[in-house]
Amino acid sequence: MVNADTQELNKFGDLAHRWWDLEGEFRPLHQINPLRLDWIASQAALENARVLDVGCGGGILAESMALRGADVLGIDLSSKPLKVAQLHALDSGARSLAYREVAVEALAAEQPGSFDAVTCMEMLEHVPDPASVVRACAVLVKPGGHVFFSTLNRNAKAFLLAIVGAEHVLRMLPKGTHEYAKFIRPSELAGFARDAGLEVQGFKGLEHNPLTKRYWLSVNTDVNYLMA
Ligand code: SAH
Repeated sequence: MVNADTQELNKFGDLAHRWWDLEGEFRPLHQINPLRLDWIASQAALENARVLDVGCGGGILAESMALRGADVLGIDLSSKPLKVAQLHALDSGARSLAYREVAVEALAAEQPGSFDAVTCMEMLEHVPDPASVVRACAVLVKPGGHVFFSTLNRNAKAFLLAIVGAEHVLRMLPKGTHEYAKFIRPSELAGFARDAGLEVQGFKGLEHNPLTKRYWLSVNTDVNYLMA
């Protein structure tokens, strides 16, 4: 059985043509990308590194890492975003950037220990069994390599800001983008990582001011956060 929710995959498939519209539904991902890219690059050398991006969608992060000199493979289980990513890559000038429709668990069985870094951003909150994804990422990374996750915390503030605020009040995201019950507390994500044999290096919060439309990294992991 594949660890994926068809409804979730279709949701992203239906919006795929909008992926690179800087003012569209994926605007938040475009806005946070420079922040997460710099954070990743500050911990893992990207130049000539073999990097896997899990749940890559239309390729915003994957392509940006390839443009920093990494040899990137992006994987996803939604076909349309992958096609958009492939088309966009043609015009990007990236030297080494490939995409594949394959489950992370299947890739882990196929090529364990082959990536210097594995990234998995804004994806865990869309899968039925996030711990299984974390385990697969741990298998895919080389010993001593780096794994990076980002997701949404589960508490009243995250519910208010990420669902009520972002989807219903500000309409930054389409309604139904996120489901509260699938949000993951930092302690839970750290538990998944440790159970998979990973060492937790640290967390960063990703904060947003809806008035100034600015995003920044901080120590506040209340809503959106990253873990190395
Ligand atoms: N990681 C990208 C895209 C985030 S959107 C970024 O941060 O820019 C979430 C992505 O996860 C979508 O492309 C969706 O198709 C993908 N996804 C959801 N469930 C998945 C699964 N089980 N396996 C692989 N990808 C999945």
